[in-house]
Amino acid sequence: MTTPVVTRFAPSPTGFLHIGGARTALFNWLYARHTGGRMLLRIEDTDRERSTEEAIAAILDGLTWLGIDWDDAPTFQSQRAGRHAEIAHELLESGGAYRCYATAEELAEMRETAKAEGRPPRYDGRWRDRDPSEAPEGAPYVVRLKAPQEGSTVVRDAVQGDVTFPNKDLDDFVILRSDGSPTYMLAVVVDDHDMGVTHVVRGDDHLTNAARQTMIYTALGWDVPTWAHIPLIHGPDGAKLSKRHGALGVEAYRAMGYMPVALRNYLVRLGWSHGDTEIFSTEEMIEWFDLAQIGRSAARFDFAKLENLNGHYIRSSDDDTLLETIDALLPHLETGAELQETLAGPAREQLRQALPGLKERAKTLIDLIESASYIWATRPLAPDEKAAKILDGDARGHLAALADRLDALADWTAAETEAVVRAYAEEAELKLGKVAQPLRCALTGRTTSPPVFDVLETLGREESLARIRDQAG
Ligand code: GLU
Repeated sequence: MTTPVVTRFAPSPTGFLHIGGARTALFNWLYARHTGGRMLLRIEDTDRERSTEEAIAAILDGLTWLGIDWDDAPTFQSQRAGRHAEIAHELLESGGAYRCYATAEELAEMRETAKAEGRPPRYDGRWRDRDPSEAPEGAPYVVRLKAPQEGSTVVRDAVQGDVTFPNKDLDDFVILRSDGSPTYMLAVVVDDHDMGVTHVVRGDDHLTNAARQTMIYTALGWDVPTWAHIPLIHGPDGAKLSKRHGALGVEAYRAMGYMPVALRNYLVRLGWSHGDTEIFSTEEMIEWFDLAQIGRSAARFDFAKLENLNGHYIRSSDDDTLLETIDALLPHLETGAELQETLAGPAREQLRQALPGLKERAKTLIDLIESASYIWATRPLAPDEKAAKILDGDARGHLAALADRLDALADWTAAETEAVVRAYAEEAELKLGKVAQPLRCALTGRTTSPPVFDVLETLGREESLARIRDQAG
């Protein structure tokens, strides 16, 4: 029987859940779900100064928003420092590691010499074979791994293939600092081992770390997990992802009005593919995801593609889901509280009724809310500049006449109001637009809106007539 898969997402809570981290989490989650295994969450909060509660909350919130869940309670790396130190001491005893008493000045000198000789700065191993009895009395020391100096270390990577690192390029790195705290390199290995992690899926900026970590596993006689280092996300121009390109926290995407399903669908295609398929249901993603189809070249972030996907998901969401997604978004918007209050009243039903028309054209939920805002606009509307131009003398006359005719309608439906407006335009020998456009401007204060007869129906008789008469001459 093969061992069940255990993956993990191990963010450092020094900032928000950024887009690259979200993709790493998603790939770990998908692989665990695909194989019927488990995904664990480890908060790597060892940098006590830079790790914040706020960042931890933002990471958990971001994952949850994206629909990524994890098994068991999260592990906090900072709470495991004792265990990390214990392993460092085991390595000291087994001869896999040694105490190094080199002073800060000595290390600086080593770096300078290496630099002058054009070599990468590496520890020169001066305490590697020294007898512990030579140790200066009571002096502080760090623990360094006694790394193999000959041969090479191979990182067997499910994405990158076998990547070979000559051992001469990897020095005896520190695993325990002089204050007894573990380095990242040691903590990750001990935690992954203790958590039973079988697959380490993370950004390829960690590839060299994987070689060093492999050395630690080997020194401890532990099984090395399967590595999968995924290429980083680049901007559309191929350069490293910057803020301008979309290197933002997941919460920024939420606030821009992206639906979580859309962002998730977008992220799964950043570096992974399944034939030409672009749109995946959750079930399909899980069924088809595998490490073998992760590409080796950097994925490029493309806002237009994300927007198209978002438009697709907005159009294909049912109205209740869309309303719920809007509800969930509002607390994260600056003007959200006001809108929450509005949508607790009759505007909610009006919005629901207008959704089929609104969602056809919206690329983001913000667009959608914006184009629905005529619903809760308060009278008298202040038409924008373009709308004000259309509401000239002639237009105002048509509005007055239309208001009276519409007022006579028995049934206030889009179809009935359309019949009245068309009949009026015909009689007046005007193109429909000459009448419908002023009507739109009066009802919404804008020159673009959902179909004007839908607007009339959504607003209802009383409010519609009042808005028309506000602008009529
Ligand atoms: N905490 C590390 C980071 O956020 C990840 C460590 C790992 O995945 O091994 O970059």
